[in-house]
Amino acid sequence: MDTRNISTTYTFDEENICYDCRNLIKKDRFYPAHKNLVLDNVVYSKMITGQEDEFYYTCKICPTIWRHETGKGGFGWQLTKLNSNK
Ligand SMILES: [Zn+2]
Repeated sequence: MDTRNISTTYTFDEENICYDCRNLIKKDRFYPAHKNLVLDNVVYSKMITGQEDEFYYTCKICPTIWRHETGKGGFGWQLTKLNSNK
């Protein structure tokens, strides 16, 4: 299944996220994770365009969950949702 067309872009209030996370918004796939992100999950997928892995991070100090798409067709850093448990 191609999940590319499923939009997980979340509408969020920038005031609620930390400085480092705000800095990640719209960064490309070459931009590294910041110091307070914890890697939760990695999805390895082989696409026609090559290896299109996705890395999921949660932030230690604010309620954000990130998806980092590192493949050639990836969109880089994407804020997926806010973690309501925090
Ligand atoms: Zn944060």
